[in-house]
Amino acid sequence: MRVVIAGGGLAGLSAALRATELDAQVTLLEKGASPGGSFVYSSGYIWSYVDLPTFRREAPGGDAALQRLILERLGPGLAWLEDAGGALLSRETGNPLTFGARFDPERTVSALVDRIETSGGEILAGTAFETLLEDPAGRVTGVRVPSAGGTHAADAVILASGGFASDAELVGHHIIGGPGRMRVRAHPRSTGDGFRAALQKGALASAGLDEFYGRNLPAAPADFHPERFVEVSQLYGRYAVAVNANGERYADEGADWSETALTRATAHQPGLYAWYVLDASGLKGRVRELTAKEMVETAKSTGGPVIAAASLPELADRLAERGLPRETFLRTLEEYNAAVAAGRSPSPPRSGQVWPLLVPPFVAVKVAPSITHTVGGLAVDAGCRVLRGTDGQPIPGLYAAGVEVGGVSVGGYTSGLASALVFGCTAAESAVADG
Ligand SMILES: Cc1cc2nc3c(=O)[nH]c(=O)nc-3n(C[C@H](O)[C@H](O)[C@H](O)COP(=O)(O)OP(=O)(O)OC[C@H]3O[C@@H](n4cnc5c(N)ncnc54)[C@H](O)[C@@H]3O)c2cc1C
Repeated sequence: MRVVIAGGGLAGLSAALRATELDAQVTLLEKGASPGGSFVYSSGYIWSYVDLPTFRREAPGGDAALQRLILERLGPGLAWLEDAGGALLSRETGNPLTFGARFDPERTVSALVDRIETSGGEILAGTAFETLLEDPAGRVTGVRVPSAGGTHAADAVILASGGFASDAELVGHHIIGGPGRMRVRAHPRSTGDGFRAALQKGALASAGLDEFYGRNLPAAPADFHPERFVEVSQLYGRYAVAVNANGERYADEGADWSETALTRATAHQPGLYAWYVLDASGLKGRVRELTAKEMVETAKSTGGPVIAAASLPELADRLAERGLPRETFLRTLEEYNAAVAAGRSPSPPRSGQVWPLLVPPFVAVKVAPSITHTVGGLAVDAGCRVLRGTDGQPIPGLYAAGVEVGGVSVGGYTSGLASALVFGCTAAESAVADG
């Protein structure tokens, strides 16, 4: 049984190792100079919601069969990863809605690579797959790889190329739906290669193509290295009032714990940016081990625009110098403060802890949305078999794992690393069982 895997992030590495354990002959193709994908920039938390009702509540439009698969297979998957030499840092996630574990990304990637190679698997770095081969009956029979001898024949192909976050055209078309470009908060190579190749062979796209997971980051001219992606994230919208370029509130800042909804809403604002406005009380707000004030200081250290003032009118003057309409901005905050003080819901409504912005100093931080990964992708069954558009049946020989699998967290957010680990192992098992 010969299995080709396209992509060497956690999904591809998990699929490759699991397939070698099941005695398949494995070739993993990695476009970058070395495997690891976005895992190497991540915080390394591999998690699931604690139960299906919580999963459904947090990602209500997601595919329930895939959510159940993650929930049921994550525990055994984490044990498998540890047995495979994964470098476990903690069995806690620090979030009562979730369970999981934290792994050291670099050491885990190198353990997986060692295991794959010592088990006889082949890893070809610097090698991008381009298209899928198929026989006249429509069975996938391998991949075309222009840079490495043309083609690789296979009984099964597992696509694990990480979705299309880094393809400005696909992101513009499906997600932003207008002018502008989002910064990529991930490695830059997930340009939709697997997604496009599968669609060309008649694959079905999942729900959620217009959604993404990401964070609001310090806006231009902020400058920082990818290794600082976690540290520079501006994750305190819940303590701020977020206004757009028109000086208006545009979203519920406290809609969800991961601030995914706020980030997504920011991607639809004019100019793709917002100002987070805080007072002294908001600056004391805490998200895990950091205060909002510390996150604002980090934004400043990157060169991102941060403005402080002793009063809201002074802040409005300073923001007007940067193009924000002064009177609208002041009216927005007055209306917000009045609604909150009167115990009314502001418009748009606001969830979580709410207080008026009254205590100086007042601070405004310019933030811009960034994309870490796509939510939509290829539709698969609960065995990670890619489904055909015409009849919803599996395309023989074709599987997907990780971010390539779409539709898991529609309407919310879930762990990309759990999708990588669980779907990687599942795709390998299905490929070997079907072969
Ligand atoms: C800063 C940051 C923090 C994060 N923190 C967490 C966290 O704590 N918990 C969590 O669950 N998630 C987290 N994530 C998200 C998580 O890292 C990703 O969801 C996960 O790593 C995706 O894995 P993947 O293997 O599906 O895709 P990727 O990691 O994107 O891997 C895809 C691989 O495919 C390769 N590739 C692309 N095209 C081709 C081609 N044509 N041929 C061959 N190879 C190709 C790419 O080079 C890449 O190596 C974080 C991400 C970032 C950036």
